Amino acid sequence: MKRGKGLIIVNTGGGKGKTTAALGILLRAYGYDLHGVMIQFIKGSWNYGEKKGFKILSPNFRLITAGKGFVGIIDDTLERDEHVMAAKKAIAIALEEVKNEKNDIVVLDEINYALKGKLITLQDIINIIQTKLPSIDLVLTGNFAHKKIMEMADTVTEMKEIKHAFSKGKLAKIGIDY
Ligand code: ATP
Ligand code: MG
Repeated sequence: MKRGKGLIIVNTGGGKGKTTAALGILLRAYGYDLHGVMIQFIKGSWNYGEKKGFKILSPNFRLITAGKGFVGIIDDTLERDEHVMAAKKAIAIALEEVKNEKNDIVVLDEINYALKGKLITLQDIINIIQTKLPSIDLVLTGNFAHKKIMEMADTVTEMKEIKHAFSKGKLAKIGIDY
């Protein structure tokens, strides 16, 4: 199957849907028997639906939870060093996955937050983009995408919050938010 040159896709912005849109791409790609991986840079320490959901996409798509949870939020008890180490490990995994000829699509979930929070460097992301096999589509998610990465990307989407149930005091919802 001829799919053409791989794209760099960025899902950013303050509204909801950056990760779910990336998951949607994988669901769609599964329909063509494509292969790949989602590497989560921030999430990882708690349970969420996509962990089980990925079993349905298996063995074509794998979920690698490399991150240690959101940095600096209330239930974050980890030292910053631990977050940095986890993010560096995620970068090393990403560098391997973008060289893997079996992969069609690689998603780096929440990587933009990892850069914004200085867990990784801009050069880390540029290295991944430059190392990537030309055929692989690379999806980067998270708000505050770096300007340079958006310049390098083919498709950049900004999810804009019009409303979010959170701001009305509604808690994150099972099956909708995680
Ligand atoms: P989702 O995973 O639902 O697609 P996202 O990837 O766009 O969301 P993140 O910035 O990764 O959003 O946020 C992580 C968590 O915060 C998710 O549970 C998400 O549903 C929730 N969230 C996303 N956008 C908002 C928002 N504007 N206000 C409050 N919570 C949000
Ligand atoms: Mg997300």
